[in-house]
Amino acid sequence: MAPPPPSRYRGRFAPSPTGALHLGSLVTAVGSWLVARHHGGDWLVRMEDIDPPREVPGAAADILSTLHAFGLVADEPPVFQSDRGTLYAVAFAQLRDQGDLFPCGCSRADLAPYGGVHRDGRCVAPPDPSRPAAWRLRTPDIDIAWTDDLQGPQTENLRATAGDFVIRRVEGLWSYQLACVVDDAGQGITHVVRGADLLESTARQHYLQRRLGLPSPGYLHLPLVCDAQGRKLSKSAASWPVDPADPLPALRLALAQLGVPSHSAATRPERFLHDALAVFDPASLRRSSLTHTPTL
Ligand code: GLU
Repeated sequence: MAPPPPSRYRGRFAPSPTGALHLGSLVTAVGSWLVARHHGGDWLVRMEDIDPPREVPGAAADILSTLHAFGLVADEPPVFQSDRGTLYAVAFAQLRDQGDLFPCGCSRADLAPYGGVHRDGRCVAPPDPSRPAAWRLRTPDIDIAWTDDLQGPQTENLRATAGDFVIRRVEGLWSYQLACVVDDAGQGITHVVRGADLLESTARQHYLQRRLGLPSPGYLHLPLVCDAQGRKLSKSAASWPVDPADPLPALRLALAQLGVPSHSAATRPERFLHDALAVFDPASLRRSSLTHTPTL
């Protein structure tokens, strides 16, 4: 019997609207776009707007219009996590009904003596039914192993690293881990390409996928853009927002960061990206950050 046809590649870029698009997130956007297009696949945009305290008003619209100005056009309308609470509630109920979750009133201060990690479903603080609780996922003492398409083989023992992690926050907000795995599966994402700061979330996401009976996509973690001191640039610090009125300098820097040659003389970003795609080889992606400080 002939093997089933390979499923079509579906990738995504999933920014959080905590500030304008900066060089670090542009690298992720361009990297995920190039890999998806190289495989003849779809590229989607998902706005991860489930954390109102961290959200900057107007940032979501700003990020979407900046992506457009950079020629990064998604194949489907953007999905907003703030619209998808019902899906997260269904996944939450499944985990709770399976006995995977427990309510927890431990504060950061309570967990500080344990390195901030909650383990074995055992709360440090006595339960106080008069106060709202967070919900955590019980994590077993098992190694989660997977191979990152760029960073190579990975193994993580969840009990040692993340412990019983939060699925629903004390304020009632859904955790990034839950929303991300529900949406990656719901959107049919076959490959996740994102910044290396999220490598440490991947074992948690694999474990959640197992508990929810969801498929695991492939993962590829791109190097982060660092400042002169070797620190990661963060959107919250609003470092180097890219200029939608002048996309080419930032696109050149993003390609340099990824290790992709850019000899294009094109003046329009769509054409420039198209030329980069024509010579793009995923095998030549940089695995670690550039050590010099890029400047715009
Ligand atoms: N929303 C996350 C961020 O902006 C990315 C999540 C992901 O790609 O899984 O850092």
